Amino acid sequence: MKLYEYKAYEQSEMLKKGEISARELTESYFERIDEVESKVDAYITLNRENALLSADDVDKKRASGEALDKLAGIPIGIKDNISTDGIKTTCASKMLENYEPVFNATVVNKLKSKGAVITGKLNMDEFAMGSSTENSYFKKTKNPFDLDCVPGGSSGGSAAAVAACEASLALGSDTGGSIRQPASLCGVVGLKPTYGSVSRYGLVAFASSLDQIGPFGRCVKDVALLQDAIAGHDKMDATSVKMDHASTFDSLTGDVSGLRIGIPKEYFGSGVNDDVKASVMQSVEELVKKGAVIKEISLPSTDYALSAYYIIACAEASSNLARFDGVKYGYRCDKPKSLIDMYERTRSEGFGREVKRRIILGTFVLSSGYYDAYYKKAKLLQLRIKDEFNRAFEGVDVIATPTSPFEAFKIGEKVGDPLSMYSADICTVTVNIAGLPAVSVPCGYSKNGLPYGMQLIGRHFDEKTILNAAYAHEMCFGVFKAPKL
Ligand code: GLN
Repeated sequence: MKLYEYKAYEQSEMLKKGEISARELTESYFERIDEVESKVDAYITLNRENALLSADDVDKKRASGEALDKLAGIPIGIKDNISTDGIKTTCASKMLENYEPVFNATVVNKLKSKGAVITGKLNMDEFAMGSSTENSYFKKTKNPFDLDCVPGGSSGGSAAAVAACEASLALGSDTGGSIRQPASLCGVVGLKPTYGSVSRYGLVAFASSLDQIGPFGRCVKDVALLQDAIAGHDKMDATSVKMDHASTFDSLTGDVSGLRIGIPKEYFGSGVNDDVKASVMQSVEELVKKGAVIKEISLPSTDYALSAYYIIACAEASSNLARFDGVKYGYRCDKPKSLIDMYERTRSEGFGREVKRRIILGTFVLSSGYYDAYYKKAKLLQLRIKDEFNRAFEGVDVIATPTSPFEAFKIGEKVGDPLSMYSADICTVTVNIAGLPAVSVPCGYSKNGLPYGMQLIGRHFDEKTILNAAYAHEMCFGVFKAPKL
């Protein structure tokens, strides 16, 4: 077995025992990148030299007897909308093609202080808008299970890199499903943490009230390891919550006896592929055999969630993306004739189609005359959705649903049809609207050999329970097996 094939928690133990060095492990990933990256296209920027220097640093510290963190020496890829000091952070946009931040996002500082090795910056849909990573200005990432298919999105580079063993772990961001949906399509585990549990400082904002950074891994333990490293209060993010985050890694027992699992009928409707539904239900049945109990529940406002999501997300995006005006930083058009010409051409040339579509939609729903009809209604729906979840959680401990309504689709299949692309988020957006945590775990394969994912949603700040249920499921289903590339 190659070093890059081990799970991060296994690599961590091997490093600790001195069986391998951080340099060997990092080199193993870069060899793997050299072997498969031309097929997968997961990275926008590689950080090879600095990664090796960080690995050497960890080895030196270990040799001198210093006690090191579990993540010391573990190679981690970072989605390209998370700021990295001195390493380009493009958001997969022409607008930020040459932008090098002068600071690290809090999550990156946390990882670096623990000795994690940053492998590079991962491809995504431009400004995290999309469900297939086809909206990247630079390249189309391929699904490692079938190179003709999309990896999902917007964190498609993160999911594909982990699935192809081009990074041991990865960070992504999730505004409406962008960690869970690509995790599902690439057969890996992805966690969208509770809003406020992980600092967003240094994450380039898409829809600030919904955005959340979270981990990808090839098994539940790996995801717990990374979640524990990034969670916690940060004074630089006013929405980050002051509380203790007990280790989720240490609480993985796989014991689900008495766990009440809610099955919301609205998530098993006609928009969801029958095979996906059957896989999820079979996985739930396995948990029942281990002592969990099922309860049918109803979340009636689910049908309106997608509309509410696209109104709120676009409204916030239109405001957040106003900063890209050719004045402060990023792209500026050539030879502007006037200030207005500079604004117009910079934004017309710098943003891709999907980003422009959303800015226009967002500006529209916030404009006087339409604000009450759209934005205000969407915000009212948000309250209803939150309320329905709160009531549901009085009777159940976790809620199980499909993550994506379908398996990975062919590259190009949905690009001309935004509504069909938006329907990829039908099972995930409610979680962001309500600020809840949710994990996606692999739960089956289609007849084409493409992975399906099950989503487990928990109460606010109860990552522990959903990760433990995911772990119990994984014990029956088996852990990730790398696709042949
Ligand atoms: N696919 C969704 C969208 O296009 C979600 C994106 C995300 O979570 N960043 O908005």
